[in-house]
Formats: sequence, structure tokens, C-alpha cells
Amino acid sequence: MEDESDDVDDNNTEQADYDFIPVVHDNFDPYAGPIWEDECDDIENYMAKLYKNGEIYKDQEFGKIEIRPWQIYTDKQHLRDVVRDYCIQSGFSIVVEKANNQIYTARCSDETCFWRLHASRLPDGVTWAIKSIQNAEHTCLGLQTKNPMVSAKWAQRVLLEDIRAHNDIPAKALNKSLWGRYGVQMTKSTLYRMKSKALVEIHGGMMCLTSIEKACKDLWPEVDRRYCCKHLSVNFKQAFPGPKMWQLFWLAASATSPFVFQKAMKQIDKAKPSARVWLANLGEQSRWTKHKFDPLIKCDVNNTNFVESFNATLGIDRARPVTTLLEGINPF
Ligand SMILES: [Zn+2]
Repeated sequence: MEDESDDVDDNNTEQADYDFIPVVHDNFDPYAGPIWEDECDDIENYMAKLYKNGEIYKDQEFGKIEIRPWQIYTDKQHLRDVVRDYCIQSGFSIVVEKANNQIYTARCSDETCFWRLHASRLPDGVTWAIKSIQNAEHTCLGLQTKNPMVSAKWAQRVLLEDIRAHNDIPAKALNKSLWGRYGVQMTKSTLYRMKSKALVEIHGGMMCLTSIEKACKDLWPEVDRRYCCKHLSVNFKQAFPGPKMWQLFWLAASATSPFVFQKAMKQIDKAKPSARVWLANLGEQSRWTKHKFDPLIKCDVNNTNFVESFNATLGIDRARPVTTLLEGINPF
């Protein structure tokens, strides 16, 4: 019974992943041909073979993905993820013919092609191994159109670390990464939608500002912080729309004297008393209005524009280890 429920679940996800490719049944029986003979071997022989040939698949973020028989995967999802990455990188797609919690058989989506992969679960019940790849050199020409295996869900998985390292990474940089690693590109709108989902996954839906705030307080309790007024103004605008409120916000935020600041605040209070409360709730005025900035910090910038420019200059290298990052920005 347990097997059955897993099957159903599995078929459902398979369906969701491959819903653009109609599954064609070609009467291919993975147990019929001589190539699957190892399945019939007795367990001792089987374990000897595994011990001799087996190698645990090592995840590699960059470079050519290679799959071969007797490669071992931590679980079935791992196998499926690697197979998908491999297919996308090599420019073909597959049709999963049989997938349950014991075997996984797929063929090239080109019906004239004889490429086939067969994998199965190992006796430990968790790990999986590729048992054979038939016609590893495709007899088809590969995909001439967009690979249907390229999905937002796939991109979210392969780009997760890039996004974790650089939450504001632009679509252009994400595409550069996809192109370099897999030779594919996606539309900007898909990438932005995928990125916001990835950020929820990364931050667990929590406001990242809160965690940065907490981290700073723990690490440098004596250092004061400022808010980026550009980001603040966007939030302010949502709560208090209209050009007048917008103008008054910037007047208060950019005021370099208490006189100008008081004037602006009085007008804000007159127009919308709740806006004054909103600003009071931000805490210390030294965090957002220029006239209260600590004069010891020789910088009166009240936005993070230069940080954004810095990030944009780093581009994709920001997601890389620090030495690679330095090589990347060396020309500057
Ligand atoms: Zn093929």
C-alpha cells in the first residue's frame, strides 16, 4: 500500500514537471533486453558490482555535468534533479516512461532517438543508482526549439545560491549564469517571478530587514545605522499616497537644519496626522533625517544608491567565492 501512495504522488509531480510533453507509450520494456541483466543478478554479485563500479555523484555548480552507469544519488529527487540539469545542459529533453519508488526509466523525447536511461533504488531503500544508459550518444539532433524541461521551478533550484548571495540580483545577471552553465535563457518576467519565490524560500517569508537589524545589533552594538530613504519613501508612498505627501517626506528626510525639518513635519501633521505617527515609529530620527545624522560619520547620504551600483558592478561575481569575485572585479 505504501508503494502505491508513493507512486501516485510521484506521478503527480512528474505530471506537473512534464506537462508540456505528451507521454508516448512505445511498449518499451526495461526488463526485456539483455542490458538490464544486472537486475537479475543475485544480491552478492550485485553488491560486488556496486562496490567496484559505484561512485557517488558529486554536485558541481559549474562545468559539464556527466552522468554514467553506477553513479549513485542520495535519493530519487537528487537523481531526477541531476538528470534534468544534464538534459538541459546537453540540449535535449526526456519523457519519463516509468517512475515509481523502485525504478526510473526515461527516453529521449525525440521518437527517432534511442537514448534511454534506467535507474533504480538500491537495497538500502534510499539511495539510487543509474544502471544503464543506452545509446549515450544521441541518435537525434537535439532540440531545435526551447527546451520544455526549462521551467521556473528548475531555475529556482539552480539559481538559488546566486539569489541567496545577492538578493537584488538583476534578471540580466541571472540569465548570464543560466547561459554560462546550461546554455539557456529565460524571459525577464519569469526570472523576476521566480526570484521573489526564491527569496521567500531563502528568508522563510520573514522581512530580511529584521534579521539584518538583529545581526548588526548583535555584532556591532555600538554602531549606529541609517535607513535607506529611497526604500523608506516607497513604503511611505504606499501608506500615504499622493505627490504632496511624497514631497513632504523628502523635505523632512533631506532637511539639514532643525528649522526646515520642523516646518516639514508640521505640514505633514496638518495633511495627515497618521503620517507623523508613522515617521515617529521609525525610532531614532538620526536614522532617517539628515539634520540628525551623526557628524562624526563624514557622509550625509540618505539612500543606498552607491551600494546598489557596487552590487551592479559586481554582477554575477557576487554569487561566487571571494577569490573568484576579486578576479571578476579586477578590471575595475
Ligand atoms: Zn536524443
